[in-house]
Amino acid sequence: MIIAKARAVDGPDQQFRSAEIKRRDLDTNDVLIEIKYAGICHSDIHTAHGEWGPVNYPLVPGHEIAGIVTDVGTGVSNYKVGDRVGVGCMVDSCGECDNCRKGEEQYCLKGNIPTYAGVDKYGEPTQGGYSTHIVVVEDFIVRIPDNIALDAAAPLLCAGITTYSPLHHWGAGPGKKVAVVGMGGLGHMAVKIAHAMGAEVTVLSQSLSKKEDGLQFGADHYFATSEPETFEKLAGTFDLMINTVSANIDINAYFSLLTLDGTLVNVGAPAEPLAVNVFSLIGHRRSFAGSMIGGIRETQEMLDFCAEHDIAPNIEVISADQIDEAYKRVLASDVKYRFVIDISTM
Ligand SMILES: [Zn+2]
Ligand SMILES: [Zn+2]
Repeated sequence: MIIAKARAVDGPDQQFRSAEIKRRDLDTNDVLIEIKYAGICHSDIHTAHGEWGPVNYPLVPGHEIAGIVTDVGTGVSNYKVGDRVGVGCMVDSCGECDNCRKGEEQYCLKGNIPTYAGVDKYGEPTQGGYSTHIVVVEDFIVRIPDNIALDAAAPLLCAGITTYSPLHHWGAGPGKKVAVVGMGGLGHMAVKIAHAMGAEVTVLSQSLSKKEDGLQFGADHYFATSEPETFEKLAGTFDLMINTVSANIDINAYFSLLTLDGTLVNVGAPAEPLAVNVFSLIGHRRSFAGSMIGGIRETQEMLDFCAEHDIAPNIEVISADQIDEAYKRVLASDVKYRFVIDISTM
């Protein structure tokens, strides 16, 4: 049994406290990782606050994990002590269903095992990356390229793959007009990645307050959605739109910005159902789609792509004592653009 230091919450309205959690002894294919950095994702906040259904507290969130291998099981072949590695939103899946065989473990037909707030195959609750150590089976670990710093690597494991996967799947690239809706943690990654893929990138944000940043990240155009003429000006423009906003927006207005055969992909998930006016889709054979993180193989591909194109998230590194404050600031959209916890402060 390995004892890790962690930060946990005991209920929806509770503050984080210091905790000790148990990590299992290494099974044959397990890897022990000393966590160096963990990103703060909006999903952590929803889950910690119990907004996505009942949670078994105490809960240790964190699914943007970057660290160093400190021990490996006897059957581990791909990793050795000292390797720089990452863990994202899931730590296991059935490995046998059609989707797992295709390398789309996030869509495992039996349900993937989430990094926290899940139950592992040993029947134990999973606990995430706001902790000093984690044990993960090697198939769910990715390698962090040498030219990506560990603190910057952490948010790629969720924000990076969540935006890379739909951009890649729907063919963002030269000659394609891509719109990114929202300029938060996900949106800023979508801009950088879509730009590196060669697409013409437009940001649609509530205001122009982050315009300079957006253009610096690689956006070609930047519009405020609070201005009604934006929707008139851009009608029928985009081949692909990535909606990173989880608030309930007027989705039909956004459909009107798609070109013939254009696709709007939601990666943010509003708590309430959206009112879709189907007329706005059938008129130009438009599609409305969803996408959830990415498979392990694709996550590695995304990391290698980011290394090759020198892409890293903009981060603010905080200490373990600042998690509650960081949550408040994320909810107030006061972060540029991702908080990352320095686990050495735990
Ligand atoms: Zn996340
Ligand atoms: Zn499966």
